[in-house]
Amino acid sequence: MEPILIDIHCHANLYLTLDQVIKEAKSVGVEKIIAVGMSALSIERILEISDIYEEIFPALGIHPEEVRMNNDIENQLDSVINIIRENKNKICAIGEIGLDHHFVKEKELYPLQKRIFEIMLSLAQELKLPVNLHTKGAEKLVFDMLPSFNIPNVNIHWYSGPEEFLNLGIDRGYFFSITPAISYSPAVKKTVEKTDEQFLLLESDGPVKYSGKTGTPAMIRDVLKAISKFKDIPPDELENQIFENTKKIFPKLF
Ligand SMILES: [Zn+2]
Repeated sequence: MEPILIDIHCHANLYLTLDQVIKEAKSVGVEKIIAVGMSALSIERILEISDIYEEIFPALGIHPEEVRMNNDIENQLDSVINIIRENKNKICAIGEIGLDHHFVKEKELYPLQKRIFEIMLSLAQELKLPVNLHTKGAEKLVFDMLPSFNIPNVNIHWYSGPEEFLNLGIDRGYFFSITPAISYSPAVKKTVEKTDEQFLLLESDGPVKYSGKTGTPAMIRDVLKAISKFKDIPPDELENQIFENTKKIFPKLF
C-alpha cells in the first residue's frame, strides 16, 4: 500500500466549504481526515459528514471546554454516551477528550470536567478504541489518570506542556500529533525533537488559525516537510514511517 497523508485531528464540521477543503487536501496527497467531536451537537454533524464524504472518519467525544460552552452538558451526557455506543463500529477513536485548565479558568467546573473525562476514558476501554487527548494546562492530572484505564493507544494532540510530562509520555509509548504550529512554537519543536519518529503523527486541528491563516488538512504536507528538516530524515522515508504509525494507532481507518 502506497503511503498517504492522514490528518488525524481536524474539526471538519466547522468548515463552511468542506468540499473545497477536502479537494485541496487531496491535491497534496492528504487522503483521509479524522473529524473529532467536541459536543453533543458536533458529534451528530460529524456522523453526518462522515456519511457524505468517504475521506472523513469520525472520532467522537466531549471536549474539556464543553463544560463552559454548554450549560446543559450534564443533562446531555447520557445521550452522548448512547450515540457513541451505537456508532462504535463507525468510529476510529474517542476524541477530542481530556482536561483543560488553561482556557477554562473557572475552578468550580473542574470536577464536572474530570467526571466527563473519566466517562470518556471508560468508554474507550469498553469499546477498545484509542483516545485523542487535549491536555492543556492539566498535563499532570491527565498523565496521572491514564494508567488506571486499559486503552489500546494514546494520542496526545498538540502537546505544549512541561518537558517532564513529554518525557513521561514518550516513556509510555504515547503518540504525539504535530500541528502547523511547528513553524513558530518552541514547545512543538521540542516535542518533535524529543519524540522518536515512530511515535509522530500529523494533524491540522483546523480550522484553528496559524499566524492568521485558517488551518486546513492540506497544511500537513508542510508539517511533514518541517519535521523532515528538523529531524534530518528524508521526506519520503518520514512519510512512510508516519503512515505506518497512523495504521498502528488508528487501524479502523483502513
Ligand atoms: Zn482540536
